[in-house]
Amino acid sequence: MEYDIVIIGGGQAGLSFACSMMDANIKVLLIEKRPLDLLSNPKPDGREIALTHLSVDILKKMDVWQRIPTDVISPMKEARIFDGDSSSFLGFKNRQGASGELGYLVPNYKICKALYDRVQEAENVEIMTDISVDDVRRQNEFAQVNLSNGEQIKTTLVIAADSRFSTIRRKMGIPALMKDFSKVMIVSQMNHEKPHNNITLENFHYGQTLALLPMVGNTSSIVLTVETDKADDIVNQSEQEFNENITEMFKGEFGQMTLEGERHTYPLVGVYSQTFVSHRFALIGDAAVGMHPVTAHGANLGLRGQDILATTLKKALHQGEDIGSVNVLKRYESKQIHLTRLMYFGTNGIVALFTNDAPVVKHIRKAVLKLATHFPPIKYLISHHLANASPKRFLPF
Ligand SMILES: Cc1cc2nc3c(=O)[nH]c(=O)nc-3n(C[C@H](O)[C@H](O)[C@H](O)COP(=O)(O)OP(=O)(O)OC[C@H]3O[C@@H](n4cnc5c(N)ncnc54)[C@H](O)[C@@H]3O)c2cc1C
Repeated sequence: MEYDIVIIGGGQAGLSFACSMMDANIKVLLIEKRPLDLLSNPKPDGREIALTHLSVDILKKMDVWQRIPTDVISPMKEARIFDGDSSSFLGFKNRQGASGELGYLVPNYKICKALYDRVQEAENVEIMTDISVDDVRRQNEFAQVNLSNGEQIKTTLVIAADSRFSTIRRKMGIPALMKDFSKVMIVSQMNHEKPHNNITLENFHYGQTLALLPMVGNTSSIVLTVETDKADDIVNQSEQEFNENITEMFKGEFGQMTLEGERHTYPLVGVYSQTFVSHRFALIGDAAVGMHPVTAHGANLGLRGQDILATTLKKALHQGEDIGSVNVLKRYESKQIHLTRLMYFGTNGIVALFTNDAPVVKHIRKAVLKLATHFPPIKYLISHHLANASPKRFLPF
């Protein structure tokens, strides 16, 4: 079998890149190791994605945003960051006031479902499921993808979108910086009595962080980040005990809070690949940059990256260039590195500052928050990165 592009992984990054290549006159194959029913009908995974305006624009361009049911899209009007038990906060809201949004919260599985439905319509994209890619070998003129069923596929270019723990990245000999935060995120959907008013909350309590992401109605996604050795105890708490603890952590601000569905856990590991491309090979999504979720940017950067790669490749095709050549692929890499490097290391810096409980660090972060509150240019900069839109849209308060 021969293709122009083989995509490894059918998560958000792989599916969106396949959608972006639908209008190119080339043959694309997407390989996903999960079975077809999980790809075509993904299950809730606890990941609520805070999409920026730019990401929404990219999804609209792909005719995907229109396929996400409006009753699962929750606008975020404000974001508030608290330090410790202090009641003062660093806040962000849209300059357009009540009519504007910082971004939109959408369940990951609904985005993936819409992406899959869209890519299904493509005449030039084939999807293979229930099979994993074991290895990739490269020659000068082509790459060979080896599948777990023993089959071999020839292609001009391989795109790996196989998660932050990418085995293919490792097999291709590409090193990555990995930061194990030794923490676990416990994500749960909770109903509550009082409204959230579409305000996102991030509380950096000492020893753990607690976030509330406003979903549709009186429901929120609660993200509790704790040290790894404490996670099992919390996940195994009875529902009643868990409900009481979370209600108490929010000091009753939302009335009684009640768990809906299961608690999902994610280990906190950040990844930054040393290079995003090599001969006949490119990394996208978390396989290239696996962000700490606190600034809610992993999927957003992944969407933007695949858009840059698709645009680069389509232009190269138009000019008759070899899309697997490093010369072409480097054009994608230089743009994506520029966008992601500051975000990745900046986010890790913020995490280090806000989760270190040494007294001197507590003083530093109070000073940083004060400075950011009273010095609008810093806030504009943070807003700009948070929402990936013009700082003019945002109003510090
Ligand atoms: C709790 C949580 C909250 C988050 N919130 C946000 C947010 O608010 N905003 C935001 O922008 N981002 C957020 N993120 C990050 C976002 O979820 C990820 O960046 C994004 O989903 C990554 O997509 P991906 O396709 O790169 O990887 P994945 O979703 O990991 O998909 C990889 C796919 O590759 C497949 N695969 C792996 N190996 C192989 C192989 N060898 N052969 C074939 N298939 C293979 C896997 O089965 C999988 O389907 C959050 C993450 C978490 C955990």
